[in-house]
Amino acid sequence: MTSSLLPTYARFNLAFERGEGAWLYAANGDKYLDFGAGIAVVSVGHSHPHLVGTLIDQGRKLWHVSNLFEIPQAEKLGARLVAESFADLVFFTNSGTEAMEGAIKTARRHQFVSGHPERTRIITFQGAFHGRTLAAVAAGGNPKYLEGFGPPLDGFDQVPFGDLAAAKAAITPQTAAILIEPVQGEGGIRVAAPDFLEALRALCDQHGLLLIFDEVQSGMGRTGKLFAYQHSRATPDIMGLAKGIGGGFPLGAFLTTRAVGLCMTPGTHGTTYGGNPLATAVGNAVLDVILAAGFLGHVVETGAALGRGLGELQTRYPDVIEAVRGQGLMFGLRVVGPVGEFVKAALAEKLITIPASDNVVRLLPPLTVDEAEVALALTRLNAAAEKLSAERAKAAQRGAA
Ligand SMILES: *Cc1c(COP(=O)(O)O)cnc(C)c1O
Repeated sequence: MTSSLLPTYARFNLAFERGEGAWLYAANGDKYLDFGAGIAVVSVGHSHPHLVGTLIDQGRKLWHVSNLFEIPQAEKLGARLVAESFADLVFFTNSGTEAMEGAIKTARRHQFVSGHPERTRIITFQGAFHGRTLAAVAAGGNPKYLEGFGPPLDGFDQVPFGDLAAAKAAITPQTAAILIEPVQGEGGIRVAAPDFLEALRALCDQHGLLLIFDEVQSGMGRTGKLFAYQHSRATPDIMGLAKGIGGGFPLGAFLTTRAVGLCMTPGTHGTTYGGNPLATAVGNAVLDVILAAGFLGHVVETGAALGRGLGELQTRYPDVIEAVRGQGLMFGLRVVGPVGEFVKAALAEKLITIPASDNVVRLLPPLTVDEAEVALALTRLNAAAEKLSAERAKAAQRGAA
């Protein structure tokens, strides 16, 4: 089929008509188990009745009024996020990259109003992903995403992930902040050690820098805590959220402390759509589900079952799966051979997975996934790994002959 969409994605030749919980239904009736959740977006499953009901109710009443007026739904969602986090203030966006843009601007402006206009640079980490706007691709530093788009925005100094000495050495009188994903998502589900985050916090305090956490992928319950940083004792000054926060409705946010956020006075930043009544009503509905008693405990339990099963799979097929890593319901399989081959093999078993860098296949099911669905996913992953293992053994035999 010729498409009128800009060819920025190599899409599977597959379209879905309907979704329910962890399941997606193709037009021909084929049923897929969704362990991608729209790249960690469909946090409480497809067509969750509470989200659908909220969307319809709010859709009938009021969609959009602009940020020139008070928006009770945004006030409520903001207050709830503040109550559950380190933060005092929230700015709503429509996407993750906008959340990170706002986070970066806030860090720079805080240094500016604090008498340090020279502090504009931000230390970031190899393998990072912060989005696709010009500042976000510069912060991420991935040469593939920078090529052909002119001079990268200046002001980012990148060091190896987990390397405290390198982060320390990268600090100059121009440094404003350190920016890190507590769990790298696109980078291949690389979990920052709690003591590394705590050491970064101490480093920031020592040098007057701000600590920014990008929890666009790891936040909203994905790792078994509402925010991944809560596995450590470190708290950031600024944090970006998106993906799971809207459950599929476009919504993002950055959160900050009062001490930092008050530099963002009227006129310094803005958004037309961000935080509108429809998006934030849905955001509240997502939070109703995630904050319900026992929900995060369920994520921890099903995540543990998935982790155990994946470990067994790796033991059974070390020729296909080299390593398993992750936390909560955010897992990565470092595979032997092309990632695309594994993703395709899983898709042939009607299991959706998501490729990442570092030769990793991501498993990011809806957080509402149950133990039976986890068991079924493991069966399908086993079948995919078995097939790849047999194919490779055959190819090796042919090579030897
Ligand atoms: C997806 C992602 C982003 C970008 O979010 P968009 O909504 O695609 O703009 C930023 N940071 C992280 C960690 C992400 O996973």
